[in-house]
Amino acid sequence: MIDLAIPEYGVNECFVIGDVMTLEDEPWECCLRGQAKAAAERLENVHGLILKAAFEHEFHYSGGQPQPGLGYALRAFRRMGGFPDRLMAVLDRVGLKLDTFMPEYGPGQCEVTIGPNDAIGACDDAVVLREMTRAVANGLGERASFAPILDPDGVGNGAHLHFSLHDVDGNPVDFDKTKPHGVSDRAGAFIAGVVRRLPEFISMTAPAVASYIRMTPHRWSPTCDNFGYRDREAAVRICPVFTPQDEEDVAGKFHFEYRVSDAAASPYLVMAALLNAGLNGLDEGMATPEITESDPNDMTPEQLADIGCARLPTSLVAALDRLEASDWAKAAFGETFIDVYLAHKRCEIDIMNGLTNTEICEKYAQAY
Ligand code: GLU
Ligand code: MG
Repeated sequence: MIDLAIPEYGVNECFVIGDVMTLEDEPWECCLRGQAKAAAERLENVHGLILKAAFEHEFHYSGGQPQPGLGYALRAFRRMGGFPDRLMAVLDRVGLKLDTFMPEYGPGQCEVTIGPNDAIGACDDAVVLREMTRAVANGLGERASFAPILDPDGVGNGAHLHFSLHDVDGNPVDFDKTKPHGVSDRAGAFIAGVVRRLPEFISMTAPAVASYIRMTPHRWSPTCDNFGYRDREAAVRICPVFTPQDEEDVAGKFHFEYRVSDAAASPYLVMAALLNAGLNGLDEGMATPEITESDPNDMTPEQLADIGCARLPTSLVAALDRLEASDWAKAAFGETFIDVYLAHKRCEIDIMNGLTNTEICEKYAQAY
């Protein structure tokens, strides 16, 4: 439960996060938190693994005096007025452990990341972070928008999911120095499932019509279903870590980042999709995918196919068609949920029909 009043900030928030149950007290199959919980339990019960995660959020703040060309600069902080200080104070008050806050590349764009938590905790944290960010902006008479992209010619807002796998005693299991780029077989199998199933579940993590405007080449967002080494345009990447002191130190820091997600998606559904797809890789003992080190946008479809990759669906319409055709998704999430999701999202597509990309971005900015 979040119960926080800071009158001098204009912040007064009280809400509870929970599961939606049926009248028979069973988990409702359309409860996204319940979906994520069930997948996390299966990961632990069947494979003895626990996922730790943190969402990295990007958003645009409407206040201050944004100026192009000040990405990551100290001056960009100053031009945001009191917003960053208030946000960091509020995150601290609600118990979220800040990892980083910085002005991002775009004018008025910010990035905020909090420390890792278990799978469901990380999603709860993401909900609290988004609401608190909005509340702080609101208290200053401004808005914070987490929409996937605000200007079709600008940079997008991702909500990347950083994750690592651990055994039930909490020891990290992702790193194996004898394997290419240090990716252990278990982590490789999990990621193989994620990239293999990605075209089938992408509509759950990039769920808006505008998500596919964000995911176009050379915007630091993914366009292929690849597993890349440190690449900001990979679907899943091996994150850079500070120069390790020793092997134990690397294992503790080594982790992956799922980048095909934005904040139009429920964090619980992103988590459920990642876990269910990773489980599929573990269940089938899939081999670690080819780890790309060059830009997949420079490859022909044939060259991509040679390394087991393909271009991602380029619209929500195409992504939903892939979901509808997926027996794996129906088995993993339940047919009722898939039917409801498809109907809901296709209605959203109808609302956007006939609008220009600029108008589509404006509509999503109002909603997110
Ligand atoms: N803004 C980029 C996106 O849309 C990501 C930038 C970054 O790597 O932090 O995903
Ligand atoms: Mg960023």
